[in-house]
Amino acid sequence: MLKISLPRLRRDLTALARFGSNPGPGVTRPAWSPAHEEARAWLLVQMKEAGLEPSVDPAGNTFGRLGDGEPVVLTGSHIDSVPEGGTLDGALGVLAALECLRTIREAGAPLTRALAVVAWSDEEGRYGSLFGSRAFAGQLDAAKIPGMRAPDGERLVEAMARAGFNALEAPRAAADPRGVAAYLELHIEQGPHLEAKGIPIGVVEGIVGIRRNRIVFQGEPDHAGTTPMARRKDAFLAAAEYALAARQHVVRRGSGRSVTNFGVVEVKPGVTNIVPARAALLQEMRELDGRILGRLDRECAALARRIARRRGLGVAIERISRNEPARMHPEVQGAIEAAAADLRLRTLRMPSGAGHDAQNLARITKAGMIFIPSKGGRSHRPDEASDWRAIERGANVLLHTLLKLVS
Ligand SMILES: [Zn+2]
Repeated sequence: MLKISLPRLRRDLTALARFGSNPGPGVTRPAWSPAHEEARAWLLVQMKEAGLEPSVDPAGNTFGRLGDGEPVVLTGSHIDSVPEGGTLDGALGVLAALECLRTIREAGAPLTRALAVVAWSDEEGRYGSLFGSRAFAGQLDAAKIPGMRAPDGERLVEAMARAGFNALEAPRAAADPRGVAAYLELHIEQGPHLEAKGIPIGVVEGIVGIRRNRIVFQGEPDHAGTTPMARRKDAFLAAAEYALAARQHVVRRGSGRSVTNFGVVEVKPGVTNIVPARAALLQEMRELDGRILGRLDRECAALARRIARRRGLGVAIERISRNEPARMHPEVQGAIEAAAADLRLRTLRMPSGAGHDAQNLARITKAGMIFIPSKGGRSHRPDEASDWRAIERGANVLLHTLLKLVS
């Protein structure tokens, strides 16, 4: 049975980790930065040496192709990182894909379809969330490009120009869906489930949808010394009651995997001797089932209004963003499970609570994702890690899934 070479994959992962390496472990390799562009140049050389045909599209997505004609089966991930991130998030999916194509080419395995490795640009969203795959899927809003900025204020247009790209041309990366047969991505889980259950391979069912709302409770800014407790209209206490009640509601009435978070809380006027007149919460909810997500969203809004009314306060609910869940294709999920069975590896079907490029690819083709266990569930931090054995297993499942998709 065909297998990838772990020493070669390990060598590539170690080599890529040098670009943007921190003094300690981990990497800082944001999209379009000098470290990222050096990594891209290195990747293009590796693709060429592996006998692939390299190319870069107007959105900065980097491809290495094996075989001719369309439609092509795409596999990859990203080589950018968050600040002080780990060496596997994204890099594993790109370099394991490269190793799979190298293995297939060397074995002379017959291909009925072309295969290509891809590294999507700015997956981590320094300038725009999932930028490269969004452009490829034809979902990039050209009018927004001039206004896209990094948290430090730098404009995307300037960052891309520095790297030799014209940002305004990025929408031209949009692919004809008929040219793509399937998309497959290997990624670390970035959570604790596979490790806790002792299962080596996760088969991603879909990527969760996300709702973000701003909930603002409006009370009265009374004197905190002279106003009797019973007469106060304390916006903070309403917000606090709501946060606890909403959490309980999502846990009890969600799918069992639904999650919610209150990541930002603002209390005004924000001084010790005035009763809080205004409390704003930023709430996020994530869930794989779009109907459950929509219902939880409506029920939480009703809950906020009920709490405000009972306390004699006003409440305003503002929608910040809504992302619908992206289902991975049943055929690709089946191919991953069959490949894992051939390799005698147990699998677990699971949602992805984090966003991935596969959610954009799912709009134009049959998309699928393979997860491997993350040590301690840690990710987006320098000590992110997976066992080499786990990496080898994941890459071999990627290899045999690809073989099923091209045969
Ligand atoms: Zn990633």
